[in-house]
Amino acid sequence: MRAIRPPRELFDFARPLIEAGKACFLVGGAVRDYLLGREVSDFDAASDALPEEVAKLYRRVIPTGIKHGTVTVLFKGLEIEVTTFRTESDYGDGRHPDKVHFASTIEEDLSRRDFTINAMAFDLADRSLRDPHGGRDDLARGIVKAVGDPLERFGEDGLRPLRAIRFATQLGFEIEGATLAAIAPSLGRFRLVSRERVREELQKILLAERPSTGLRLLEGTGLLAEISPELTACRGVEQKGMHIYDVLDHLYASVDAAPPDLLLRLAALLHDIGKPAAKEERPGGEITFYRHEEYSARDAENLLKRLRFPNAVVEDVVLLIQCHMFSYDEAWSDAAVRRFIARVGPDNLDDLFALRLADGAGIVGRPIDPRSLEPLRGRIEAVLAAGQAFGLADLAVKGRDLASIGIAPGPAMGAVLKELLETVIDDPAMNERERLLAIAANIKGKYSV
Ligand code: ATP
Ligand code: MG
Repeated sequence: MRAIRPPRELFDFARPLIEAGKACFLVGGAVRDYLLGREVSDFDAASDALPEEVAKLYRRVIPTGIKHGTVTVLFKGLEIEVTTFRTESDYGDGRHPDKVHFASTIEEDLSRRDFTINAMAFDLADRSLRDPHGGRDDLARGIVKAVGDPLERFGEDGLRPLRAIRFATQLGFEIEGATLAAIAPSLGRFRLVSRERVREELQKILLAERPSTGLRLLEGTGLLAEISPELTACRGVEQKGMHIYDVLDHLYASVDAAPPDLLLRLAALLHDIGKPAAKEERPGGEITFYRHEEYSARDAENLLKRLRFPNAVVEDVVLLIQCHMFSYDEAWSDAAVRRFIARVGPDNLDDLFALRLADGAGIVGRPIDPRSLEPLRGRIEAVLAAGQAFGLADLAVKGRDLASIGIAPGPAMGAVLKELLETVIDDPAMNERERLLAIAANIKGKYSV
């Protein structure tokens, strides 16, 4: 284990509290991560001082969660969350109002924390480590173990099973036997947890080095079926051709192969999620997944919305999934290349190619050669360099030009613009004001009511 060496500014921060006769401990993830030699990004401190007392001692204080006993202190470039020692958790069960009970000792505070590796405190007054639950040993052995009785602790807060899996995935740890065994009986409690909190943990699993470790744990404990029955439906759905895995293992392998970026990891995990729904068995016994990208886009959208992902994330992931089945060959005309760029959007091409490489790795079970994408990339670069139109903003006519020839703003104008864009993508030479106005005048009858 490494030594705990916080920056000098953190000790400077603790001084006013200590001089006022109060305790000040560094707690939680920072202690764990210092011991592991991992990068520490945020600081949580615990003190017996009440929030109002803390607030009086510092100049720059944000009342982050006074009723939960937390204030944020800005000090010499650090941002420290200071929480008064507590006993009971305030992780609401969705039925009772949250309440908070302050405690008088750090030991009481540590015993309400989730896992032994998260339940250590570093005294900023004398630099000693408080470790009543054997967290240091568990860190050394690589074990995630609940503080106290796991069933009881998971019964208090249904998010903890998911957190156990998240830490095991991020740190490459094992979950201790009784802690792991307590997950399945706690699923009922998990259902009461807010979807935002679930999303946060899921996101951290997906950004770990090997998300599949966490996904397999989720599957094995029954959590995956709670979070996404669409995903568990992919288990055992066999595929033909080059595929060496069933659909779910293919998705796991794809997500591991994708770069650690949230959009890409989500797209890789969900790009074939609609295969069970799209599956058809032909009379000869042949199995097809015709238009599975549409089914997958629909299922992914539902799932991501349910998990309260921001709309921008949902839209980008859905688009990548919809476009993931492209298959380029040199017979593509320039117009076909332009249509492809227009459909994907010039800004999303790199992500779509990254998804393709991850998908490919998930099919054959090892990385595929990125040079396989070079021919299409080259065509795209050539077409982009010509500076042609791929979006409405590039058209040589604007809405007001159409209005001047009697096309009403609204759906009719939208439809005309779309048709003009398609014309220009097929033939860039058409992107001239007079030509487009002539076409618009011709077709406007189709769309007016
Ligand atoms: P990270 O590095 O991901 O922030 P962390 O350990 O700091 O990891 P946080 O969610 O920031 O995790 O929580 C800070 C600390 O608060 C934890 O280390 C743990 O001691 C305690 N804690 C957080 N969530 C819970 C919970 N649901 N139940 C019990 N204790 C918790
Ligand atoms: Mg933290």
